[in-house]
Amino acid sequence: MAKKDNNTPHCSFCGQAKEGLLSGIDGYICPDCVAQAMTIYKSMGIPLNNNKTHSNKNDINSLSLSQLPKPAQIKQYLDQYVIGQDEAKKYLSVAVYNHYKRILQPKTDDDVEIEKSNIILVGSTGTGKTLLAKTIAKLLKVPFAIVDATVLTEAGYVGEDVESLLARLLQECNGDIEKAQKGIVFIDEIDKIARKQDNPSITRDVSGEGVQQGLLKLLEGSIVNVPPLGGRKHPEQEFAHVDTHNILFICGGAFDGIERKIAQRLNTQVVGFDSVGKRKQIDKNNLLQYIAPQDLKAFGLIPEIVGRLPILTYLEPLSREALRSILTEPKNAIIKQYIKLLEMDNVKLQFEPQVLDYIVDKAVEYKLGARGLRSLTETIMMPIMYSLPDQHKDEYIVTLDFAKQKIEAADMARMQNSL
Ligand code: ADP
Repeated sequence: MAKKDNNTPHCSFCGQAKEGLLSGIDGYICPDCVAQAMTIYKSMGIPLNNNKTHSNKNDINSLSLSQLPKPAQIKQYLDQYVIGQDEAKKYLSVAVYNHYKRILQPKTDDDVEIEKSNIILVGSTGTGKTLLAKTIAKLLKVPFAIVDATVLTEAGYVGEDVESLLARLLQECNGDIEKAQKGIVFIDEIDKIARKQDNPSITRDVSGEGVQQGLLKLLEGSIVNVPPLGGRKHPEQEFAHVDTHNILFICGGAFDGIERKIAQRLNTQVVGFDSVGKRKQIDKNNLLQYIAPQDLKAFGLIPEIVGRLPILTYLEPLSREALRSILTEPKNAIIKQYIKLLEMDNVKLQFEPQVLDYIVDKAVEYKLGARGLRSLTETIMMPIMYSLPDQHKDEYIVTLDFAKQKIEAADMARMQNSL
């Protein structure tokens, strides 16, 4: 065994105590020894294809142009998992279809080069931006990585370099560069790296404009030297050379306050008239639907970044009805998951319909959004899941009284903070 002093595990190969050890049946291995083992295998000509266990059937590499799901099919698939957001679904479906058409296009002699169309989704937190991107990646069976833009800093500063986005993607496909080069990267909270207008000139904006500049080369397509995740431990550790031309970048952000920029633009715009000269009616309650690239610039994204994100669409705030549907309708809806969990204990779980309305009421009252639906349901289900497996019941009905009792006893402030 490689467990030595102070219970700190040591690598069974080099004997050193290190972070990130993998445990085996009777020992540990550190990332450096894994890297060294891979180099040795490579030099022996032994292929390291870790994906053999994964089915490659129908993944993007094995599809022909005619087999590619069409935009309406992509949207239909999204409908099974994501409630509402029709506009965003349509934009995404077309953009993703065009993107993969571009990758799969046969080589021709004409000069028409289809340009990459990265996507930016604007909408409040918890409205389904990540879920949409994740669901598309699932449909196409391409590697998918989610990265939070707030952890990125300009090269050389504390934080992660932008190249770490690609390290994550590579990790998702066990280092298969070919696969990673056709993957999707979701960059969350892109609004948090907006240029700060009031940034005093003496401090460098290392987490804002500098990061945007860094991202630019990934978005436009270039060959990037990607260090192994967590940085290079040895100078001889190799960089992976990843070509980002065919990687689809989907950015998401809440852009809090962007409505003001939209309103300002709409108020000052002379072209507020339609073709017959009537003034267009503007729905002041949902200004996000009028979002345009110049609003992103006004918010603090540099023009070059905005130019590299040509598909711009928005997500609607979730209505009470949408929240209610999210509980029960998607393919892996929260309620369906609990029913399935208890089915495994041979218990038929049911909910009084008022319980579901009550969960939605509380999510709205405490502004918990869609993410809160899960925490609320979990609070109600926790004691049930604890005691039911021992009770040999065939059936259990969650009543409104029971749900109220559990939610009223819960610490809602903690729930709000944990989202
Ligand atoms: P965002 O990226 O916009 O902050 P997410 O996509 O991460 O939000 O949503 C958080 C969770 O809320 C999802 O995992 C999902 O369970 C639920 N959710 C949010 N919006 C929707 C929606 N439109 N349809 C179904 N579920 C949703």
